[in-house]
Amino acid sequence: MADYVRFTEDMIKTHTILVPNMLPVHFRLLMAIFEHKGYKVELLENDSRAVVDEGLKNVHNDACYPALLVIGQFMDALNSGKYDPNTTALMITQTGGGCRASNYIHLLRKAVAKNYPQVPVVSLNFSGLEKDSAFRITAPMFLRLLYAVLYGDLLMTCYNKCRTYEINKGEAKAMLDKWQKRLGDIFRKGSREYLKTKKLYPQILNDFGSIKLSDEKKIRVGIVGEIYVKYSPLANNHLEDFLLSEGCEPVVPSLLEFVMYCASGTFTDAEFYDNKSTQSRIYKLGYKLIYSKQKELIKMMKEQGSFEPLHDFEHLRHLADKYISQGVVMGEGWLIPAEMAALAQSGVDNIICTQPFGCLPNHIVAKGMSRAIKQDNPNANIVAIDYDPGATRVNQENRIKLMLANAKRN
Ligand code: SF4
Repeated sequence: MADYVRFTEDMIKTHTILVPNMLPVHFRLLMAIFEHKGYKVELLENDSRAVVDEGLKNVHNDACYPALLVIGQFMDALNSGKYDPNTTALMITQTGGGCRASNYIHLLRKAVAKNYPQVPVVSLNFSGLEKDSAFRITAPMFLRLLYAVLYGDLLMTCYNKCRTYEINKGEAKAMLDKWQKRLGDIFRKGSREYLKTKKLYPQILNDFGSIKLSDEKKIRVGIVGEIYVKYSPLANNHLEDFLLSEGCEPVVPSLLEFVMYCASGTFTDAEFYDNKSTQSRIYKLGYKLIYSKQKELIKMMKEQGSFEPLHDFEHLRHLADKYISQGVVMGEGWLIPAEMAALAQSGVDNIICTQPFGCLPNHIVAKGMSRAIKQDNPNANIVAIDYDPGATRVNQENRIKLMLANAKRN
């Protein structure tokens, strides 16, 4: 058995678990659920250059950029002196898929073991990995996490539109804060009110819908790519803020799409390889449950009418079939071309594909597929932007400005 310090039952009371901040809107809700279960959690906000430098110091430079950043952020936090290593734990996700994301945890443990051997690393996964850890996702917790993702997606979608067009600056952020607090309190208390979607979804939609927006025409820019770099402001150099500063509307696909992509991969693989089992049938049932929840949210967004609904996942699967097999599930696999096609189809012609250094699978499915998507959508203006420790922000922003110049011309 590997030699590393376990996260034990006693540590639930004594330790603060540090969490890397990938999706600021969603993660606050997810953390409230962990807090209800008695875990003390803290979202990391450190994002200076020191994070990258710590990553470079502690991870082999062949590792993918998200691994380097997540590990760098943890090491920078531990080195800051703000946290007592004797009462601190670190949390990292494991997708359970075939890509390297499942193995970041071992790189992190190796980095931590050198200077902080007493610090346990907790795995957040839905595949039953690390059974000896006292951090567990139970079935009721899973349901709450699913709803937190749905609410997070709704807030993110409404917020991105409102902050682009709001007439009174700051109104969208105030509304986001209000709803993050309200939903966070619901999850933190363990209340079942989160299930009252028929009441809460319309309230959120109407609240954001009441914000006065200008009818100015702005360039809409879709953001797709590897999951961490797509969402994390630390990784993509605050891409959404940059687009706003350039007078554009950032259009960010929902996190639920990635969750459903992972869920569907488990049973599509079983079908493709003729390897159906009880487990794959259970996954299929789980997928159907998640899809029904997504459809409910889409229906309410359509009825309310102020915000563009999330992509219907079955539609995404159907779009993917035009370009690539659903058996391509390394990294973000077929999801990236499907999202690019869905964005182009819905009139979001300008698309940034965020590509981390070292991410071979996503280079193939993103850059490799963009030509086929452009053939079907002649107005599609797709640009792949590389993110790595050596790429300068100016370089990335200049490439985006070039794309926007094309968009303006079109
Ligand atoms: S998807 Fe890319 S960045 Fe993510 S683990 Fe795989 S290779 Fe690394």
